[in-house]
Amino acid sequence: MNKITKYTAVLTLASAMTFASTSTAQATTEALTQAPQQTPQQVNLGSENIMAVAWYQNSAEAKALYLQGYNNAKTNLDEALKKHKGKEKLAIALDIDETVLDNSPYQGYAALHNQPYPEGWHEWIQSAQAKPVYGAKSFLEYADKKGIDIYYISDRDKEKDFKATKHNLKSEGLPQASDKHIMLKDKNDENKASRREAVKKDHRLIMLFGDNLLDFDDPKQPTQLSREALVNKHSKDFGKKYIIFPNPMYGSWESTLYENDFSKSDTYKDQLRRQSIQYFDPDTKDVKQDK
Ligand SMILES: [Mg+2]
Repeated sequence: MNKITKYTAVLTLASAMTFASTSTAQATTEALTQAPQQTPQQVNLGSENIMAVAWYQNSAEAKALYLQGYNNAKTNLDEALKKHKGKEKLAIALDIDETVLDNSPYQGYAALHNQPYPEGWHEWIQSAQAKPVYGAKSFLEYADKKGIDIYYISDRDKEKDFKATKHNLKSEGLPQASDKHIMLKDKNDENKASRREAVKKDHRLIMLFGDNLLDFDDPKQPTQLSREALVNKHSKDFGKKYIIFPNPMYGSWESTLYENDFSKSDTYKDQLRRQSIQYFDPDTKDVKQDK
């Protein structure tokens, strides 16, 4: 490149840079002046779940809570075995998602990319990469060794997800992951009650495990009040017959916030989430709720 060409090139680059910075400045000014006319700030429901996923994946407390549940279950199991007489077989029934398998990488995808369920869910299941939650595998191995029948009762789709679910459970070395012992949601299944009843036909079902009330019993209504009434009804069962695990990422509790209508807009869901929260007002010293 000779001197003149080089000089011309530098000038061209400099003017291009000046133009670019002027355009950026113009664009920023335009954006600022236009902002009030735009629709309210875009709601990102996915990012609202980031702390829940971060807690679930990174807190030692989440792991400790799983251990607490499974340790309790082991004590209960030993007691049941000690008292057990007769020929009736003992069984336990476990939900799969967030009870035996950890699907938080899927929740991470949904949160970081603002994708609503079931976007990507079946792809996640098909990939069969879910790892067991803390304490699940050693407890289930213990139950298996003690001759307990283990049933995995999950609302994963039987038609779409059975094969990959079985593969995932088996590849993680979880015991009794056979066709008979994996009971996924069929077209005719409204809830889990009929599958629990099927197990009870020839077993004494000593414990149920889940991260959702529906893994234990069904409330009369899918409302917050009715769900709390169910918890009170079974207040003595938790930690004994019912082992419940933490799931702040999703669950039936969430749908009660939206009157069980997930088709509501993201903006309205965000509003309902906010309205569900009680907060302290430092000015008035009151605890309030905006309804
Ligand atoms: Mg679950």
